[in-house]
Amino acid sequence: MVWREGTNMNCPSCRKGILEKKDDVIKQDGVSFEIFYCKACGEEIMTMKQLKALATKYRKLRKAKEVTFAKWGNSIAMRIPSGIAEEYGISPGKHGTLTKDKEGFKVIPTLGS
Ligand SMILES: [Zn+2]
Repeated sequence: MVWREGTNMNCPSCRKGILEKKDDVIKQDGVSFEIFYCKACGEEIMTMKQLKALATKYRKLRKAKEVTFAKWGNSIAMRIPSGIAEEYGISPGKHGTLTKDKEGFKVIPTLGS
């Protein structure tokens, strides 16, 4: 069930109960959820905001490509798919910068390096 935030707090499922916020936050696929639930029928409700966050997350995941890690001396090398390498002008000997973010890291190829 999806509940449009800002509307009244009546349960959109049974229309009898009043929605209450659950104390525990559900973390799913990197998206945090504050779940509302109906005391009368037990229906759990997601807000539109949460639904949009989830949709954005899934769109990103669909575009994601799997990469393979390999050993390179004492370091770990990452195999970059050829299509991605071409698209971003990456070839052996070129450089990029690696930055950490919340879920992992990203590599930005240095132009003309
Ligand atoms: Zn209800």
